[in-house]
Amino acid sequence: MKIIVLGSGSKGNCTMYQTPTTTFFIDCGFSHRDIRLRLEQRQMEFDRLDAIIITHEHIDHVSGLPSIYKFHQPMLYISTKTYQSLATYIKQAIPTSCLKLFEAEFEIGDVFIEPFEVSHDASHPLGYRMTHQSKCVVHSADTGYVPRRLFEQLQGADVYVFESNYDPELLLDTDRPFTLKQRIIGNSGHLSNEQSALVLRELIRDNTHTVIFIHLSQEANTVHHAKQTHQQFIVNEKLCCVYSTQDEPTEVILL
Ligand SMILES: [Zn+2]
Ligand SMILES: [Zn+2]
Repeated sequence: MKIIVLGSGSKGNCTMYQTPTTTFFIDCGFSHRDIRLRLEQRQMEFDRLDAIIITHEHIDHVSGLPSIYKFHQPMLYISTKTYQSLATYIKQAIPTSCLKLFEAEFEIGDVFIEPFEVSHDASHPLGYRMTHQSKCVVHSADTGYVPRRLFEQLQGADVYVFESNYDPELLLDTDRPFTLKQRIIGNSGHLSNEQSALVLRELIRDNTHTVIFIHLSQEANTVHHAKQTHQQFIVNEKLCCVYSTQDEPTEVILL
């Protein structure tokens, strides 16, 4: 399976997962044109899209849906509560025949997908554990914390796509209103670099070869700050750490 984070952060999120027979996105916060250009940067064509899975209804995760449905008719896998929370103009852009309102695990082509509940100020925020052949990838986007009860289910993935949103000092230095800072730091906000590293330290096993850090804040984080913090807590020379940014796609990662 190929994994490419096309971009991530508060201005848009989209990750492509591709097996020889199946292509899908997790989240769709970029337009069709933007996605095509980002794929071209990595010598990939945007000729096929079987499905889109949504983590939650915040606009940076769904804004590209109307544009995508003008060109493709992928199945949309979305929880019922998240679908109900979408803005009307987004719902209207999705043909009913494409809707898959799931309540439990499901399959897209040759990939088995198990949703898990995370903690974020949205109606029903989810992460996904995905299995292809005998390999596993965990995708966890916006979440204020990762409950310990999930550790057993999430440990030992080969690849993690994991939020690492902010550095606390940089966040407090921003001009943002205090209530917004509180929201970000809170249990239904986002993961700091340190929180992200502490959770991953519990989940990583010998087979884990790559972590792709996503949703780094452009104002309250830098790749440099994130890396420094992660290296304090995760000491593993074999582990490849990739940092997704807002404007550039990552390299293609193989599961
Ligand atoms: Zn977000
Ligand atoms: Zn969000």
